[in-house]
Amino acid sequence: MLRITDYEKFDRENAYDGDDLGVTFRDGKTIFKTWSPLATGVYLNLYLDGEGDNRIETVPLERLDRGVWYVEFLREMDGVFYTYSYEFDHKHREETIDIYAKAGGVNGNRGAVIDMRSTDPAGWERTGRVECPSACDAIIYECHVRDFSSDITSGVSDWERGKFLAFTKSGTKCGNVTTCLDHLKELGITHVQLLPIFDYATIDEKKPFSNEYNWGYDPKNYNFPEGSYSTNAADCKRRIRELKQLIMTLHQNGIGVIMDVVYNHTYFTEESAFHKSFPYYYHRLDKNGRFSNGSGCGNETASNHAMMRKFIIDSLKFWATEYKLDGFRFDLMGLHDIETVNLIRQELSKISPQLLMYGEGWTGGESPMPSDKLAYKWNSYKFGKVGLFNDNIRDSIKGGTFNQYDKGYVSGNFNATSVVKRGIVGSVPHWQLKDVNEACWAYEPTQAINYCEAHDNNTLWDKLCICSKHESPVERRKMAKLAAAITILSQGVPFLQLGQDFLRSKPRLLKEGEQANDINVFDHNSYNSPDYTNAIRWNKKEENIDVFNYYKALIRCRRNNPLFRLSVKSDVERCLKFHDSGFNDLIIYSLKDESNTLVVFINPYNEDKYYDIPQGQFYIRLNENGKMNKFPINQRLKIPAISCIVIKKLKNK
Ligand code: CA
Repeated sequence: MLRITDYEKFDRENAYDGDDLGVTFRDGKTIFKTWSPLATGVYLNLYLDGEGDNRIETVPLERLDRGVWYVEFLREMDGVFYTYSYEFDHKHREETIDIYAKAGGVNGNRGAVIDMRSTDPAGWERTGRVECPSACDAIIYECHVRDFSSDITSGVSDWERGKFLAFTKSGTKCGNVTTCLDHLKELGITHVQLLPIFDYATIDEKKPFSNEYNWGYDPKNYNFPEGSYSTNAADCKRRIRELKQLIMTLHQNGIGVIMDVVYNHTYFTEESAFHKSFPYYYHRLDKNGRFSNGSGCGNETASNHAMMRKFIIDSLKFWATEYKLDGFRFDLMGLHDIETVNLIRQELSKISPQLLMYGEGWTGGESPMPSDKLAYKWNSYKFGKVGLFNDNIRDSIKGGTFNQYDKGYVSGNFNATSVVKRGIVGSVPHWQLKDVNEACWAYEPTQAINYCEAHDNNTLWDKLCICSKHESPVERRKMAKLAAAITILSQGVPFLQLGQDFLRSKPRLLKEGEQANDINVFDHNSYNSPDYTNAIRWNKKEENIDVFNYYKALIRCRRNNPLFRLSVKSDVERCLKFHDSGFNDLIIYSLKDESNTLVVFINPYNEDKYYDIPQGQFYIRLNENGKMNKFPINQRLKIPAISCIVIKKLKNK
């Protein structure tokens, strides 16, 4: 078929802006619409089921203006399955699922026509999003649905283990500690970010007990949930209802839900529903007309093409409203053009200005788009209302992720001190920090998503075991806790990974004959590794309860003191001041407004340090174990080796 040479011209002449692509019910009718301007024919195939030989009929669609194809039926066809066959050059016919399908059969090969209201669990209409006035008020906890409860130590019943429904169970325990939902509540995080929950390709949903595993960055269908997280993938409504039950339960417990979206590439390329419904339109091509690979996954989508942009926006609006989600995390956001990213922010803000939106400001390969047009982190000021993962604070805290032996500030690499300080101020300019390097990148503190551990790379604990292997486990624990303190108390938006709060590890099974070394006993890229590596072992929480209690105290300290959550850079300039500690790398800063004064001491040295503070005016808000002591401090303040201390000024009587 004809290749498009000028996409902008093509879009001006052919893009469609209606809000009715996919299947809609209106006045008792069922209306199917799809867009494919260069197709010479489009046919609708109706089926009784999501798979198998059970076709009801095939009917041609009628061509309307601007490449839209249409057919309507004089009844509401709830529960019918369907595909389209797109014909090009009057000969090639490609059968595929509708890219706009809101439900689908097992393994996502056929769409399903459903009445979305019939998927609402009881009580759905009475719950809604959580309040989050500023992104800096959020504390995000990244969870993989399966990891959360797949291990027997989760205490979740067999049939719900690894599924959406595990998030709806309270009262689960492992020994003396809470697990799963009760754990989330006890920890005090505000939002759960779920790794991909849309329908992904690589797990056979027909084999729910095969123990296949994937993170889910292999998108197949964008507008309905993954079947392997449902208790019955063949029931097209159940996965939707069970995901809504998850969201509703978290909302009822005051926890928001953020969806990890992966619009930057498709798992299949020629075999993707995008390509089959309109070849060479939805993906970017290089100058030789081949699929470009900015994602590192074989292709990249073309958010700069009008109908791909529209698809992304329509999809996000659908998830945000139908599923009442609280925010979106964009995988490889650097592949999306800035215009699209700003449009998404505008559209999400119309639904709720409190919806969180942030992503990875990088790509997985080279894109043919000019780099000044893409949502790279270094272009951050062009999309200042969208957050970005702060790899500067990450690497300064624990050392570079690509060299596992590389140490960071908490493990004694003091070259990183200035970047840590920049992270503390939310990566915005600050009058006391002269060193304006690439770490000074944020437009506002709301833009800085601060983390030292996520699903990618080694866990913080495994990284410390590699790069600080000569230090004792006791010292490594102190390092892990100090890393948590910097992440959670810095200006910006703290982000944690599930289990980080009790020293999560990802052990790797050695291959036969493989010799163990420092690095290969840990898995640094566990995207399809077995549960052995990925599952949360909840007994670790009991073993490391001191670390968990410390995280809990840090979170409480942040939530109870608005000075840790300044949303605008002018407030950071005004309220945050660094003080000379007398030691180069011992960081002291105060946070002060009209009513409160806090001082934070961060000691990265492997020996106790002391500091003179005004007698009788402050109390310990948070010691190295997360404890508070309300008695006025009347002596030199001790800052134990590798620890963080927060003191607070007593209120004037
Ligand atoms: Ca799937």
